[in-house]
Amino acid sequence: MRREIHMFFLPFLAHGHLIPVVDMVKMFASRGVKPTIVTTPVNALLFSNTIERSKESGIHIGVELLNFPAVDVGLPEGCENADLTPTSEDGNWEMITQFSRQHSCFNSPLKSCYKNVNQIVWWLIRSSIGLLMLQTNSGSPGDIKLTRNQVPDYVKQDAETNSTKLLKAIKEAELKSYGVVVNSFYELEATYADYYRNVLGKKSWHVGPVSLCSGKNIDKVERGNKSAIDEQECLEWLESKEPNSVLYICFGSRTNFTSSQLKEIAMALEASELQFIWVVRKQKNNEEEDDWLPEGFEKRMEGKGLIIRGWAPQVLILDHEAVGGFVTHCGWNSTLEGVCAGVPMVTWPAFAEQFYNEKLLTQVLNIGVAVGAQKWVRLMGEFVERESIEKAVKEMMKGDKAEEMRNKAKALAEAAKKAVEKGGSSYSDLDALIEEISLRSH
Ligand code: UDP
Repeated sequence: MRREIHMFFLPFLAHGHLIPVVDMVKMFASRGVKPTIVTTPVNALLFSNTIERSKESGIHIGVELLNFPAVDVGLPEGCENADLTPTSEDGNWEMITQFSRQHSCFNSPLKSCYKNVNQIVWWLIRSSIGLLMLQTNSGSPGDIKLTRNQVPDYVKQDAETNSTKLLKAIKEAELKSYGVVVNSFYELEATYADYYRNVLGKKSWHVGPVSLCSGKNIDKVERGNKSAIDEQECLEWLESKEPNSVLYICFGSRTNFTSSQLKEIAMALEASELQFIWVVRKQKNNEEEDDWLPEGFEKRMEGKGLIIRGWAPQVLILDHEAVGGFVTHCGWNSTLEGVCAGVPMVTWPAFAEQFYNEKLLTQVLNIGVAVGAQKWVRLMGEFVERESIEKAVKEMMKGDKAEEMRNKAKALAEAAKKAVEKGGSSYSDLDALIEEISLRSH
């Protein structure tokens, strides 16, 4: 009989990391691995309901809490997540980063959780493998071009900053790791996966898309945070619409557009005459209408457009047949969730590794229309004018090109579902990974 495998997961403290790690943990647990997520109290609350529900269905996930000294390091009480930091200053980001780095070492308070473990193998969890090669300059097949302006500051800067230090630490961890677990599926980026394994000779397991493990609506609604809209209200709104007629717009958990950019988006949406669900992170103020909305916008859009202020049940929305296109900032999770939903995308990268993901959608998979963002700007993105937005969303939603992209996207969505089913490539890779861990822990 196989010995019990106990795995510890230490997700980076940001929604975009916690969400896929929790999904991945559920996948490992469903194959008999005993998982423990190590995180801080505020972050644990974000997925406590998910863990309870898993328990009811016989899947046990342990949580080990570490206190985050927010106040001691100059952050407000409870500020334990990169998305909660009050300003975009590098210093705040550094606090969160440093904490994640410190606790991934053995000379940390985590020692107590590891005490019964007889052998430890480090695994690194990454997103797209093509992205990984671009980021680490390890060479890659194909002819993908990025301008200098689209490359992250921390990649091109010579001077050492907090972000360059983080990237360096990631690269070093990569070298020390036994292998790389990838939230992607082989068929999505086969050329890159083969190149990574065969030409660069590195070990990797494609086990995703991990978002496909949220089978029930309630898991989709509560994925990552409490939704700002009632599930029924959202579904009823979508059900009143024709298939492929609604545009979904969301820029993830970190991008914060200025009021003038939001106004520009509103004007483009109105001019496009399309139906839409638009997720805006800005909360409503006390005045009658938000200052970033054109006068009378919401009244004119009644029945046609829905604005969600705060956290949206993204996967629930994307998976609805009424949704026919996705305007995305190209975060890796959103990119993959769009692929799984089989929708074409308008790519609007702002910062981080988002420009790389845009290239995958527009130049490799051919299911994306670029909005035209040319410059990497941390947390905010470059200002894009309404004409460009209107043109891109229309091109994605209507006409022959839209149809062609939608067919390609649907085929990829089918391939993604097959990959995670029994006998599929990701299912088999996860089996192989667990088998290899089991062999190495004897
Ligand atoms: N997300 C969501 N509702 C929101 C905003 C984001 O469910 O209102 C989820 C989204 O489905 C994805 C994650 O948050 O799983 C965002 O990760 P991504 O890598 O796309 O971008 P980041 O937030 O890291 O920039």
